[in-house]
Amino acid sequence: MSNERALYQKVILDHNKSPRNFGVMEDPDFEAEGYNALCGDQFRVYLRIKDGIIEEVQFEGSGCAISKSSASIMTTLLKGKTREEAKLLFDNFKGMITSNPDASFDAKELGKLIVFSGVREFPIRVKCATLAWHTLLAALKGEADTVSTE
Ligand code: ZN
Repeated sequence: MSNERALYQKVILDHNKSPRNFGVMEDPDFEAEGYNALCGDQFRVYLRIKDGIIEEVQFEGSGCAISKSSASIMTTLLKGKTREEAKLLFDNFKGMITSNPDASFDAKELGKLIVFSGVREFPIRVKCATLAWHTLLAALKGEADTVSTE
């Protein structure tokens, strides 16, 4: 394992062990639930939005290390962003994570999300890594129903 890989692994395990912004939010403006049947990951994402800007994001639920750390890292990236900026970040993340493991990507645009670049070698885990984001988008759209990664 390269040093880079070891570092990414460490970040993922840290967020899995100590998830940021974890817990139920009282009176959120938006919320949605996401479920990944392949792995059993299940999370609820809560949002508070003011004047089109994401003020607070929280999540709760349970899942594998990839899904949980991805949800945790996501919540640390969204504060102060507009819906469009959040969507763009997800598009960049999804583009990277579904690309060929040898393909290059823009590390600057992805920021902390590059820790999941190793997931490209395990396509089945892509759903784990993107579950929280799909749930976020559903919450942003005000869709109350459970979203599925299917
Ligand atoms: Zn999973």
